[in-house]
Amino acid sequence: MFRAALIVGATSIVALLCELVSHSGVGAATGEWLSWIKIAVGLIGLAALAVGAPLAIRELGARRVMAADALRARREVEQLFRMTDMLQSASGHDDANAVLRATASGLLAGCGGALYVFNNSRDRLDLSTTWGWPDDAPLPEAVPPAHCWALKRGKSHVNRIGTAALRCEHLADHVEVLELPMMARGEVYGLLCLQADGEQAQEKLEAAAPLASAIADTMSLTLANIALREKLRTQALRDPLTGLYNRRYMEDVLERSACLAERNNGELSVLMIDLDHFKHLNDAHGHAVGDAVLRQVSAVIVGAIRPCDVACRYGGEELLIVLPDCSLDDAMAMAETLRSRIENLSDNHGRNVTASFGVAAMPTSSATVADLVSDADAALYGAKRGGRNRVLSAPRRRGSGLDPAPAAASGVIRIG
Ligand code: GH3
Ligand code: MG
Ligand code: MG
Repeated sequence: MFRAALIVGATSIVALLCELVSHSGVGAATGEWLSWIKIAVGLIGLAALAVGAPLAIRELGARRVMAADALRARREVEQLFRMTDMLQSASGHDDANAVLRATASGLLAGCGGALYVFNNSRDRLDLSTTWGWPDDAPLPEAVPPAHCWALKRGKSHVNRIGTAALRCEHLADHVEVLELPMMARGEVYGLLCLQADGEQAQEKLEAAAPLASAIADTMSLTLANIALREKLRTQALRDPLTGLYNRRYMEDVLERSACLAERNNGELSVLMIDLDHFKHLNDAHGHAVGDAVLRQVSAVIVGAIRPCDVACRYGGEELLIVLPDCSLDDAMAMAETLRSRIENLSDNHGRNVTASFGVAAMPTSSATVADLVSDADAALYGAKRGGRNRVLSAPRRRGSGLDPAPAAASGVIRIG
């Protein structure tokens, strides 16, 4: 419409000028009235131009703003695509965090940020990375999910400043923070926090919210993929019920430890453990209780052994511990400690929880790795026959360089 007014105006100006020129020169009577009509039309056109021009200029300005907005939106989308692309090559949390920091610093300029990620047991969120966060509002290293409104509600939450505001416990009082739970495949993987300073803090966060939400969505998928990769890797090494290493991993460790022991003239011991009357425990109290007992026994073992020892689930309710650089006597002492701690679990459960142990060491009782495991197994069998809830050692070999302990003459030592 404004453009039409402009065209009408411009045409009228031309018509008016022509008419004025011809009018001043000729002044013929005939058709003079027609010329005056033309002048009137020209004047109307001028008026249209006077009204239309500012409107047209305003429209032009608005279009320019729209074009700039469209360009900015296109750049933002491009950056989000780039972020997605780079995240696909992220091999772990460090890579993903670097991509997040770079993208968020560019797209959400003026806002500080922090990413929290759920730990494996999903009972707390650990601080994974931060950027531009103010030093005077330090963030805790870990946040219990129950302290965060965004996680409790499962939707974004703005922590406004003020006593009347509903604020999360883990944030300093004087910062305005937008929190976005990071969901993917129906599960929450983390929490994205955005912070802004100054009087415009609220407006800044409101403006940043849509982009922050897009970034959170992209990042959540990456966190889900990283968690899945980690799970697959762990499943290849660990038994899912007990968290102990699996048998395949144990076999590798045993081979390597045996080579090291031979090279260093050291000793390598193993403990073979079997829970007593476990079938009865299952039958009497249910499989779920049996599982819980297995988990607790495993936790007792993990809590007692050295970082260099490897505890694995050998099969069913049989566990095996590899003790590198450990003598037969020390292995016996460790077995006795574990036996007693497992027996103490009976108090927690109000039912009998005990285990029998077979101990063997290379080269003291066994010449090869294969002998080591079968000798420990034979000792365990002896412990079962001897009444269970006890520790027995494989017999010491002649010529192993170590004096046989008196009780080992029969091939079996009872400690427990
Ligand atoms: P013993 O003292 O002679 O070792 O008796 P036991 O009953 O422990 O021996 P047995 O080998 O006959 O039974 C082992 C039982 O362990 C049978 C099986 O149901 C149970 N078991 C094996 N794996 C699991 C598991 O993952 N969870 C539970 N709850 N039970 C398991
Ligand atoms: Mg068994
Ligand atoms: Mg058993």
